[in-house]
Amino acid sequence: MTIELINTGTELLLGDTINTNAAWIGQRMAALGLNVARQTIVPDGEVIKDAIAEGARRADVLLITGGLGPTNDDVSRESASAVLGLTMHLDESVVEHLLAYFAKRNKVMSDVNKRQAMVPEGAEVLDNPFGTAPGLYIPAACGKGRGLNCAMFLLPGPPRELKPMVEAHVEPRLKQLMPDLANRFTLYQKVTGMGESDIVVHIEKDLEAMAAGGLELGYCLGRGDVDVRLSGQRDVVEAGARLVRERIGDFIVSEDRRIIEEVVVDQLKAAGQTIATAESCTGGELASRLTNVSGASAVFGHGFVTYANEAKAKHLGVDMALIQAHGAVSEEVARAMAEGCLQASGADHALACTGIAGPTGGTEEKPVGTVFVALASRKDCTEVRKLFFPGARDRFKVLTTQAALEMLRRRLAGLAIPG
Ligand code: ATP
Ligand code: MG
Repeated sequence: MTIELINTGTELLLGDTINTNAAWIGQRMAALGLNVARQTIVPDGEVIKDAIAEGARRADVLLITGGLGPTNDDVSRESASAVLGLTMHLDESVVEHLLAYFAKRNKVMSDVNKRQAMVPEGAEVLDNPFGTAPGLYIPAACGKGRGLNCAMFLLPGPPRELKPMVEAHVEPRLKQLMPDLANRFTLYQKVTGMGESDIVVHIEKDLEAMAAGGLELGYCLGRGDVDVRLSGQRDVVEAGARLVRERIGDFIVSEDRRIIEEVVVDQLKAAGQTIATAESCTGGELASRLTNVSGASAVFGHGFVTYANEAKAKHLGVDMALIQAHGAVSEEVARAMAEGCLQASGADHALACTGIAGPTGGTEEKPVGTVFVALASRKDCTEVRKLFFPGARDRFKVLTTQAALEMLRRRLAGLAIPG
């Protein structure tokens, strides 16, 4: 079953309004195990009709957002009716809804609003408690006269009106249209410490072989991680997920969409342990990511941002002579920062990073992007890794903090930290 989405609105093409409806609907459909096969954005006006006519020939279901307002360029209702060859009638119950809506706000309904009460023959009105424009469901059978077989949902543009309508009226109808939807299932395996192309090398051949059995495979690049998305019947998805676990299980952060900082906070809570941070080049981003997680206070009490050498010495007890001998960006200083942080905070684990974010400050020996990440633990030996993330500063920070959190995740999971 193919679903296509048409978003109408000149403001979407101008870039004045970001098309959040498309993203939100995509996520809702994916959660149901459905794919949106195509998205089309069209400006207000006549062109909506062309988009509906084209979509109706390809898709089983068309979701159309916007263009239900009272103004002349809001023509979704009229366009769908024209494509399907349906006449429209004034629906008294919608007129009543409109009158009540305006009365409640001490306003008088103007005549232009009456257009919003026009309903194509055979269509069902979808209640809109949050605005004037009701939605419409036009069953596929309505298109028979024009040789079309495509169900249409006409939905309001404003997200606060659209979302409740999709949840209350669209999703239940989609489930009815597709009885086998109940068996469909999507699993996200979040992977870190491995690039998309490496993941592909490890799993794709065997998973492709499972495509014949109905397994759909997709990848989505995140901020420092990659989602491997498996969709299909539950048993097929589970077989695919087992294969991914066999091949790259150590790199899987979560299978319930939690990002790594959420996983690490959960791991620390379960172990009854705490983490402290000592950051130079990441300027507090590591602490920020940890404290983005609700309930982080149970596991995080101290974060040091020691940008200057003096700060590293004063707050973490790093020996100035060590900094002079090896440079602030060095394995030795990263180690001393983590171990000093462990002392100063009294935490069970301490993560430290020191590096050259750039664009200036690089040398031949330590080019921009060079970073050392260290993990010290009360009951384990200190590990330091030299990493290289050349690129923009914000990207450098994301990847450095991701690598640091990954070292901790592995230690807490009892996994080796790769060299
Ligand atoms: P109205 O009665 O408000 O005219 P409508 O159904 O005609 O309702 P639009 O005119 O298309 O809807 O959109 C109204 C507002 O909703 C836009 O100004 C915009 O702020 C928001 N909106 C519309 N489409 C989207 C979208 N795809 N993503 C996010 N916001 C949107
Ligand atoms: Mg409008």
